[in-house]
Amino acid sequence: GTADLECDMLVLGAGPGGYSAAFRAADLGLKVVLVERYATLGGVCLNVGCIPSKALLHVAAVMDEVKHFADLGVTFAEPTVDIDKMRAHKSKVVGKLTGGLGAMAKMRKVTIVRGYGNFVDPHHVKVLETGGEGQERTGGEKVIRFKNCIIAAGSQAVRLPFLPDDPRIVDSTGALQLRQQPKKMLVVGGGIIGLEMGTVYSTLGARLDVVEMLDGLMQGADRDLVKVWQKMNAPRFDNIMLKTKTVGAEATADGIRVQFEGLDGAKSEGMYDLVLQAVGRTPNGKKIGAENAGVVVTDRGFIPVDVQMRTNVPHIFAIGDIVGQPMLAHKAVHEAHVAAEVASGDEHARFDARVIPSVAYTDPEVAWVGLTEDEAKQRGVKVKKGLFPWTASGRAIANGRDEGFTKLLFDAETHRILGGGIVGTHAGDMIGEIALAIEMGADEVDIGKTIHPHPTLGESIGMAAEVAHGTCTDLP
Ligand code: FAD
Repeated sequence: GTADLECDMLVLGAGPGGYSAAFRAADLGLKVVLVERYATLGGVCLNVGCIPSKALLHVAAVMDEVKHFADLGVTFAEPTVDIDKMRAHKSKVVGKLTGGLGAMAKMRKVTIVRGYGNFVDPHHVKVLETGGEGQERTGGEKVIRFKNCIIAAGSQAVRLPFLPDDPRIVDSTGALQLRQQPKKMLVVGGGIIGLEMGTVYSTLGARLDVVEMLDGLMQGADRDLVKVWQKMNAPRFDNIMLKTKTVGAEATADGIRVQFEGLDGAKSEGMYDLVLQAVGRTPNGKKIGAENAGVVVTDRGFIPVDVQMRTNVPHIFAIGDIVGQPMLAHKAVHEAHVAAEVASGDEHARFDARVIPSVAYTDPEVAWVGLTEDEAKQRGVKVKKGLFPWTASGRAIANGRDEGFTKLLFDAETHRILGGGIVGTHAGDMIGEIALAIEMGADEVDIGKTIHPHPTLGESIGMAAEVAHGTCTDLP
């Protein structure tokens, strides 16, 4: 053929999945080309997802925390927000991490080709070179021949087709740009991404409405966890519209007028100066010419894979958001390692995680992993519950934040841990221990007899296990 470049491994997309796959493949000795349309590595997560949202949420959490300090004996002046500086902080955080990835790629001799890739056939990708900004093309074109390929082209925000084109209507990427300080904001979609961004804008002064089609916010988490978050956050909201659809909107000089319709048929409307669409993400499977390589893509744009992350074409793998739910960075990374290892000849590598934790980085945080109580009920799984309220945690009380709790669910017969949930400050930092316990097949005695440091929030995990076992001495 007439390839401009040849490699053992072509990785399409440089998000958490793509860069992790490229780095692992290079470490295993393969000659790797990494194709990315954007100027920086890191994909959605580093550029417009996990990382910038957490940079802003940290600022918001500190601002909110000090509001409670009068009760602790310290008062501060009302904060003044310099939104330009806040945005600069966020950009600096992103730059540090994406720049770090660039350096790591170089050290591993991973060749980065900037441009938009499309399959030509099962062994060639054609890359249309893109300019520095977004997707503006410089006109260049490169054909790359590969032996193996890993598709890691990710996902993008779903757009509601009936919402007008207006700078006051944004998706998560637009919201992260922090261009507005709205007084009244609508969050369409009550999932993690919408509620995280809503938290940031609310702390910066916006009144919030949220509209959700289902019957509760933060779907997937047990309702008892969400209830604690909702009680603490009630003051942010004017209106939480559940079982309600957004059906139309007009851009007016005074704001965006949005129409709603309840599942019961009730109609209403509201006026907003910022509308965030956070109704989910759709995979990019239909935008890479997969059919030219013979790779099967579902109607919804997902690419089916086996436990070794192989598509129906054995030398082409797929990982990350493009292969399915949950669309999370830590899942993409682990899938990436499996794909790179299998492609490098390790026939034993497979993706067999028992559980993948979820975290809402709201205030308080909500984190859960494995079986939830709602699922246990639906599936008729007999569980034994251990719940430790943070009103009995010395550390939570000392922090002035004892609203949370830690809950563990054990198999009623084997006493092995099946799942857990935490609501409270730093819940996300603690959920990994429960994931480890599940992976190791730990039971309530293993967890309860593991000595946790005192006084920490993490102790609540050991105590919840003792509650389940009937041996907790820290509760009445
Ligand atoms: P992506 O990160 O989507 O990367 C795909 C890359 O491929 C992109 O860089 C894209 O430009 C490139 N690409 C696509 N097609 C082509 C092509 N044809 N040619 C060249 N390049 C191409 N997850 C968490 O785990 N924790 C969080 O806290 C979290 N917060 C989030 C907050 C927000 C606001 C959003 C939007 C997402 C968040 N996520 C979070 C989800 C997380 O970002 C994704 O799960 C993760 O980025 C998926 O990684 P990926 O490698 O599959 O794809």
